[in-house]
Amino acid sequence: MAFELPALPYDYAALEPTISSETMTIHHDKHHAAYVTNLNAAIAKAPELEGKSVEELITNLSAVPEAVRGAVRNNGGGHLNHTFFWELLTPGGATEPSGDLLEAINTTFGSLADLKTQFNAAGVARFGSGWAWLVKDADGKLSITSTANQDSPITDGLTPILGNDVWEHAYYVDYRNLRPKYLEAWWSVVNWDKAAENFSK
Ligand code: MN
Repeated sequence: MAFELPALPYDYAALEPTISSETMTIHHDKHHAAYVTNLNAAIAKAPELEGKSVEELITNLSAVPEAVRGAVRNNGGGHLNHTFFWELLTPGGATEPSGDLLEAINTTFGSLADLKTQFNAAGVARFGSGWAWLVKDADGKLSITSTANQDSPITDGLTPILGNDVWEHAYYVDYRNLRPKYLEAWWSVVNWDKAAENFSK
């Protein structure tokens, strides 16, 4: 069973004006599609990996044969991260955190505003391409982290709650070089119901 590009769970224009239909179309139909195509090409060279989920592959990269490990890391990570990202963004759903997640945010960061400040700073500080994350460790403790390229926090045993793509392809059409402006605006399209679901895992 080859990996497949999941359909975007809403219309390409659904996140406008924060993220344009043009950005979503290229990002999903071209960038995410390429990760899926290249992941399948890597798996074809290591048939013993067939049947493993992308989570299994990325959680335990050391079990992936060295000849395809880099390709699986980059393209499996790309497939995993983008699937996570589309599901986290929606014009529907709660626009603010609540319940246990809000309590954990307040305990760890002081306030939602402080979480946003630290998260955005991690996104700005990521040199080149990568991601900013809010993650939960095995003890349930929250923290902010950042990964390069398409690396996923799950490789380090962390559970992603929120993740923002800070590759230029995610914002250049809409924000040009202004990554901080994109990071600020992005919060208005986060689905906090999905974040709460990620937190409860
Ligand atoms: Mn991307």
